[in-house]
Amino acid sequence: MIEVDGRALWEDIIALGEITETDKPYTRRSFSPLFLEGRAWLTQRMKEAGLTPRIDTAGNLIGRLEGTHPAAGVIVVGSHSDSVPSGGRFDGMAGVAAGIAVARALTSRGRALEFTLDIIDFLAEEPSEFGLSCIGSRASAGCLTAEHLTLRNPHGETLETALVRMGADPARLNQARRTDIEAAFELHIEQGPVLESEGIDVGIVTAIVGITRLEIEFTGTAGHAGTTPMTLRRDPLIAAAELIGRISRTAAAFAARRCGHFVATVGSIEVLPGAANVIPKTARVVVDARSESRAMMEEFRAALDAASLDAAAAANVERTAFKTLSDTLPALCDSRLRRLLEESAAALGYSAKAMASGAGHDMAFISRVAPASMVFIPCKGGRSHTPEEWARPEALTAGANVILDAILRFKQTAV
Ligand SMILES: [Zn+2]
Repeated sequence: MIEVDGRALWEDIIALGEITETDKPYTRRSFSPLFLEGRAWLTQRMKEAGLTPRIDTAGNLIGRLEGTHPAAGVIVVGSHSDSVPSGGRFDGMAGVAAGIAVARALTSRGRALEFTLDIIDFLAEEPSEFGLSCIGSRASAGCLTAEHLTLRNPHGETLETALVRMGADPARLNQARRTDIEAAFELHIEQGPVLESEGIDVGIVTAIVGITRLEIEFTGTAGHAGTTPMTLRRDPLIAAAELIGRISRTAAAFAARRCGHFVATVGSIEVLPGAANVIPKTARVVVDARSESRAMMEEFRAALDAASLDAAAAANVERTAFKTLSDTLPALCDSRLRRLLEESAAALGYSAKAMASGAGHDMAFISRVAPASMVFIPCKGGRSHTPEEWARPEALTAGANVILDAILRFKQTAV
């Protein structure tokens, strides 16, 4: 049986983490000089693992191990090396380093592979200064448009120009679209508390949730907080408050059905004019709902439509907006790859749990053009996007070994 070198995997993650804004660990923003420094380091590590690195026309860093049979197809292991400001060392980096560890384990066997292996650092997975996330994987799926290229960062630079700085060739962007991937794998820290709290080694991801954001606004009549009797008020915040309670109770009821992950959050309320002694004129809430089931999401939207009209009527105000701000479909992980990953986890003696990803990932885009899958590993306290983010070396080794084993199983069952 072949296994990854867990120690080398760990040392790669820690070493890459050292390439950070020194006064703001751990920060390596996409498109920054530090990001390029991190990539230069990764490129070197790819070469040492026997991979041939290149930058594709969308700015993805791809380390390739050419197979002996071109018809045997390409297997991808990838994630991202950019971070959020003051983020952690594992979000993204764990998946890229695990890919290099898998390649290292395969090359160290001394036998040529039939299939081609691509270890990918997808460009700019985190929301970038262009207001766009998953730039590289979006392009791999053929979803990065000419309009996206005109987006500008706060310094006025276009995404097109920034891509050139990353070694990409935006004029030939369509060449980055992948049609050759037979299977794609991504190792990622869970970024939530489930695996750690249940003492489970790996999560096998069923789907990456779709995210729907709705804006709901109520309008009433502004008035004096001291002189307007309670019976004569048209206070839109009362309707909003009623609705927020309904959102939480409805989402909890949906989640309790056990038909898949369902969460909803109101994290933004705007009350105008917003003074302690004034009855508000308008109240606006933004709902962020996430589900792996499109049917449940549509049912939720319809429930909120009715609930918001009820709440407006009860408070004697108008519902002046019910608007979809953004809406993405859930991305399903490939069922065959999921089964292989489950078999691999069992064969290696790791406990596993099927679970949805409540956060977005590069594999959501890759799943549009290839069978895609994800393996989650526990992270301390479920914390992520913070310098305290932490995953145990054994957890990283376990996740990488499950992917390595699944790749070998995949090629056995393919012939
Ligand atoms: Zn990530």
